[in-house]
Amino acid sequence: MLEKKKFYINGKWVGPKNPNDIIVVNPATEKSCAVISLAGKEDVNDAVLAAKEAFKTWGFSKKEERIELLETFYTLYKKRWNDITDAIIQEMGAPKDFASKLQTGTGASHTKSFIKYLKEFEFEKPLGDHAKDQRILYEPKGVCALITPWNWPMNQVCLKVIPALAAGCSMVLKPSELAPLSAIILAELIDEAKFPNGVFNLINGDGAITGDALTSHPDVNMISFTGSTRAGALISQNAAKDFKRVSLELGGKGANIIFKDADPEAIERGALRCFRNSGQSCNAPTRMLVEKSMYNEAIERLKKYATEFKVDDPNKEGDHIGPVISETQFKKIQVLIQKGIDEGAKLVAGGTGKPEGLNEGYYIKPTVFADVNNKMEIAKTEIFGPVLSVIPFENEDEAIEIANDTPYGLTNYIQTQDTEKVKRVARKLRSGMVDVNGAGIAVDAPFGGYKHSGIGREAGKEGLIEFLEVKSVGGWN
Ligand code: NAD
Repeated sequence: MLEKKKFYINGKWVGPKNPNDIIVVNPATEKSCAVISLAGKEDVNDAVLAAKEAFKTWGFSKKEERIELLETFYTLYKKRWNDITDAIIQEMGAPKDFASKLQTGTGASHTKSFIKYLKEFEFEKPLGDHAKDQRILYEPKGVCALITPWNWPMNQVCLKVIPALAAGCSMVLKPSELAPLSAIILAELIDEAKFPNGVFNLINGDGAITGDALTSHPDVNMISFTGSTRAGALISQNAAKDFKRVSLELGGKGANIIFKDADPEAIERGALRCFRNSGQSCNAPTRMLVEKSMYNEAIERLKKYATEFKVDDPNKEGDHIGPVISETQFKKIQVLIQKGIDEGAKLVAGGTGKPEGLNEGYYIKPTVFADVNNKMEIAKTEIFGPVLSVIPFENEDEAIEIANDTPYGLTNYIQTQDTEKVKRVARKLRSGMVDVNGAGIAVDAPFGGYKHSGIGREAGKEGLIEFLEVKSVGGWN
C-alpha cells in the first residue's frame, strides 16, 4: 500500500502536525490502495502562510518566467503520463484507455491551451484610442484555495492550478480525499519544474475539517471550487464573511433533446455520453428528451444499447466503464434506481444490484428508465451513476420547458438536422453550454454553469481571467 502522508508546503514534503490518517480505497477492489493524512488547522495555516509569502514576489513575476516554468511542467507532465494514468485507475476506477486518453489527456490539453492564452494575454493595455492615459491592468487575485472533486481528478486540478500559476497567483490545492494520488504526482512535477517555494502548496484532507479551515482562512483571497452544489453553498458562506472571490463549478442534470429529424446515431451517442466515466460527469446528458413520434423506437434502441453496454475491470483495455467511486456512492445510486421503480418509471434496462460476474467492486448496471417525468426524483437529482431517464415531448416549446425545468444549468444537448431550430433552441436553453449533434465543447471554450451549476468559467482565456483582478489607472502617460 502506498504511503503518501506528506503535504507539499513551501517547496518541501512535510508531515502533518497532528497525524490523522485516511485510507484511499480502490473502487474496483474495495481494498485500500494508499494512506494519506488529513490536514488540520495548523497544516492549513502553514500552507496558506507559505502561499502568502510567495505571492509577494510571484505576484509581480514576469510573464516570460511563468511561461518558461509552465512549459517545463508540460514537458514533465507528458513524461509521467503513465504514472498519472495508473494513479487515476487506482484512485477512481477509470478504465485504462479512458484514463489515459481522456482523464490524463485533458490535463495535458488544458495545460497546453493555458500556455497559449498566457502568451497572447495583455496584462496591461490602454482603455482605448479615445483615452490613451487610461490604463487597464490585470493583476493576480492573490492566494487561492483550490478544491477539487474525484470524478475528473487531473482535469479539474489542471483547470485550476495552471491558470492560477499563469496569472501569477499563489495557491493551496486540496484535492478530493477520495482521489488524491494523481494530484500528488502533479505536486512532484511542480517541484521538479522548480516553481519558487510556496507558490504552489498541496494539502490533503476532507471537506468538513480541511476544506472548511482552508476556505475560512483570512489570508485566502480567492476560492476556486469544483464539487457538489451542497459544498459550494457552504464554501460561499465562508467566503462571504471577508469577500473572498469565489468561482464554483457545481452539479448538473443535462437534457439531451432528440428531435425526430436527429441523425441516426443520436440515441446511442446520448446514452454513451450519459454512461461514460460511469455516469460521473457533471455535464452528462442524464435526461433524454425524445420527440413522441420516435419515442417507441428510441426506447427499443436504448434497451438494446444499455443491455449490451460493457462494464468491467478498469485495468483491462477497452471501451467499457468501470465502477463508481465509493460504497457510499454505490448505495446512493441503488436507492435512486429503486426510487425510480417505486415512482412508476418504466425500467427498460439495468436496475438494482451489480452486473453479472462483478461481485467485488462498486459496479453499477447501465440503467435506462422510460416514461419519466420531471417531477420524479430520478429526473431531479444528480445521480452520478450510469442511469438515464427518458422523457417524451410533443413539440419544441415543451422540450425547452422540460429542459429548463431544473435548478441546474450546466450543459444541454440538441440533436436535429434543422440548423434554424438549433439556433432557436440553443438561445433559449438556460445553461452555460449547449452541445449540438455531438460536436462537443472545445477544450478552450468557457466551461461553467447557470443557476445552481455554479459561478464563473474555467478553461481557455475566460479560465485565465477568472484568476485576475482588474485595475483602472487614470493619468498613465
Ligand atoms: P464534494 O462537494 O463532496 O467534494 C468536492 C471537494 O470539496 C472535495 O475535495 C471535498 O473534500 C471538498 N469539500 C466537501 N465539502 C466541503 C466543505 N464544506 N468545505 C470545503 N471543501 C469541501 O463533491 P464530490 O462528491 O467529490 O464531486 C461530485 C460533484 O462535483 C458532483 O455534484 C458534480 O456534478 C460536481 N462536479 C462539477 C463539475 C463542474 O465543472 N461543474 C465538474 C466535476 C464535478
